Amino acid sequence: MMSDMPSETRSSPQGEAIVVGGGAAGLITALALAAAGAQVHLLAPARRPDPRATALMDGSVKALEALGLWAELRPNASPLRVMRLVDDTRRLLRAPEVSFHAREMEIEAFAWNVENEALNDVLERAVATRPAIARVEGELAGLRRQAGQSVVTLGDGRTLSAALVAAADGRESAVRRLLGIAAPTRPYPQVAVTATLEHERAHEDISTEFHTETGPCVLVPLPGRRCSIVCVTSPAEAETLMALDDEGFGLAIETRTHSLLGRMRLVSPRGSFPLAARTAEHFSAERTVLVGEAAHVIPPIGAQGLNLGIRDAATLAELVADALRAGADIGSDAVTQAYERRRRADVASRTFAVDLANRSLLSELMPVHGMRGFALWLMGRVPALRHAMMREGIGPSRDVPRLVAGKPL
Ligand SMILES: Cc1cc2nc3c(=O)[nH]c(=O)nc-3n(C[C@H](O)[C@H](O)[C@H](O)COP(=O)(O)OP(=O)(O)OC[C@H]3O[C@@H](n4cnc5c(N)ncnc54)[C@H](O)[C@@H]3O)c2cc1C
Repeated sequence: MMSDMPSETRSSPQGEAIVVGGGAAGLITALALAAAGAQVHLLAPARRPDPRATALMDGSVKALEALGLWAELRPNASPLRVMRLVDDTRRLLRAPEVSFHAREMEIEAFAWNVENEALNDVLERAVATRPAIARVEGELAGLRRQAGQSVVTLGDGRTLSAALVAAADGRESAVRRLLGIAAPTRPYPQVAVTATLEHERAHEDISTEFHTETGPCVLVPLPGRRCSIVCVTSPAEAETLMALDDEGFGLAIETRTHSLLGRMRLVSPRGSFPLAARTAEHFSAERTVLVGEAAHVIPPIGAQGLNLGIRDAATLAELVADALRAGADIGSDAVTQAYERRRRADVASRTFAVDLANRSLLSELMPVHGMRGFALWLMGRVPALRHAMMREGIGPSRDVPRLVAGKPL
């Protein structure tokens, strides 16, 4: 697959990019741009530990495969072949249990779950071996445009310049702030508690979501008898969970998940993440695009966040590959504005769907519970509806970037 891609070592004054940020979105953007034929400076401070796991949807796996990264990641990833939704509220109108099977979609798995430490290890190793990527340790402090280039100033006064800046510097993006792009925040009255646990019984590649009045609590398979959990709950309950000793935490999660997997034991640090949604008003400006959480933050419900970030990276790489083939400037308005146009609908529809799913759980209104239950009941019985829901959950069916379709750049 890689042999069909433009050479990573091709260089031209208009073919250089700076990627700001070394989280998963930044690392994948750097690797995708290098595969597109750009010369890349990857500017980020030293990596921080990340206790979470990420469910990578089928399209994201295809993109990582096309970038030559999946073979190394695969042994660390567990397939999610079945997704089971359980209504664990104590409400009068409760939804029936529904299971979705990946084989109905003729795919091996909806997603593959991998610990972020393993994911970032593989991505960082790949970055280190790509001749077209120069890793620069530091933080962006300033950004200006000058003579057809973007000039980035680092905290220590060094400068870097390139035709295009891809800002993947996270939810508090300095690039976004320097460009004056607003990103209104919508907070939710919830916190996601995360951890990895070992358990007694095999998970059989089934991801189970327990829907409660405060949000979903999800068991997501990892290799072996291990699961990552994302428990979305009230801030007070999250505080209680975080304050428990390790043994108490294992017991609390076992209780919340009705001992489905037997005894549970904590085997990782815990994480606690207040929920919010945030979308930048623009994803592009002159010679700059926003990627990953710099552009969009959504609650960790339905495992969409980084999958959107991977589609950002794949779309940008495709536009850059096409510009390089045409001998054009990769930071031109034609590239940055096409990026903005192509990413809007995907981000807006995922943000809307996650918000709706979350609010239907939090709502105290009986008709909302009734509608939710009815929708799930219908999905359990009407294959066409179920398939449409599964299709949308995995990723968009329109304007799919080539890498995400498993095709070369
Ligand atoms: C509990 C939880 C569970 C999740 N589960 C899933 C899931 O299953 N599937 C999924 O797809 N998504 C999931 N997500 C979302 C996913 O984790 C995020 O989308 C992803 O981590 C965002 O990556 P990022 O690279 O955009 O940002 P970050 O990981 O925040 O990286 C930002 C980077 O920018 C750097 N940086 C910041 N400022 C500067 C600067 N001035 N100069 C240079 N560098 C800078 C930082 O050091 C960092 O390296 C989950 C999120 C949460 C909270």
